[in-house]
Amino acid sequence: RLEVSGLRRAFGGRDVVADLTLTIAAGQVTCLLGPSGCGKSTTLRMIAGVEHPDGGTIRIDGQVMSDGSGRFLPPESRGVGLMFQDFALFPHLTVAQNVAFGLGGDRAARDRRVGELLERINLVGYGAKYPHELSGGEQQRVALARALAPRPRVMLMDEPFSGLDNRLRDGIRDTTLEVLKEEGTAVLLVTHEPDEALRMADEIALMRDGLIVQRGSPYNIYNAPADRAAAAFFSDIN
Ligand code: ATP
Ligand code: MG
Repeated sequence: RLEVSGLRRAFGGRDVVADLTLTIAAGQVTCLLGPSGCGKSTTLRMIAGVEHPDGGTIRIDGQVMSDGSGRFLPPESRGVGLMFQDFALFPHLTVAQNVAFGLGGDRAARDRRVGELLERINLVGYGAKYPHELSGGEQQRVALARALAPRPRVMLMDEPFSGLDNRLRDGIRDTTLEVLKEEGTAVLLVTHEPDEALRMADEIALMRDGLIVQRGSPYNIYNAPADRAAAAFFSDIN
């Protein structure tokens, strides 16, 4: 469970994230939608712990990750998985080694976890291959498995599918969603694409100028957008 409240960050005197509040339960997917520059990636970076907030509190499963009084847990201690568009696989490692990369524990336990994830992403038998031998969509599935291997409590995804062509995207979205649900991870997914949000989200949060201006189910946001900007966002879907 991810709980963010009153999150703030300014660059050069300008509030890029201004008082952002958001809760995502385990196993739920929230899509963050908003125009370029509204602060989406900055929000994810603060939750991941690679950017320091100016204020506000971030909690994961009740544990404080950072707060206004200077408490700050480093990224590797947060139990957060990341998947970004340009988050490439390690080219010199096999598929199995990529997936196992963040795993501690004994060899047998690691192998079990890798096997389980390869099965979930439908890449059984691909463990010994190298990334360059895989299609873009297969690589993206391996990146998902790698991010999920250490069982993160929260998964942050910043336009993870935007490098893929349309033909592949729907299949990958479905697989990704299925695996995330099975793992029970709380997911914050940033996308530019309304149809992706409608397809994957339990909840959509519309963001503008560092604030969440509307939250609701895909159905509600699509049918009753709070303002013209929100309506325009969905207008080219049919
Ligand atoms: P996009 O949809 O284009 O990815 P975004 O919503 O992810 O946009 P952010 O990357 O969060 O936007 O950036 C929000 C604003 O903060 C932008 O105006 C950006 O220029 C500014 N910004 C982000 N990081 C920094 C930084 N390290 N230093 C100065 N300004 C920054
Ligand atoms: Mg961004």
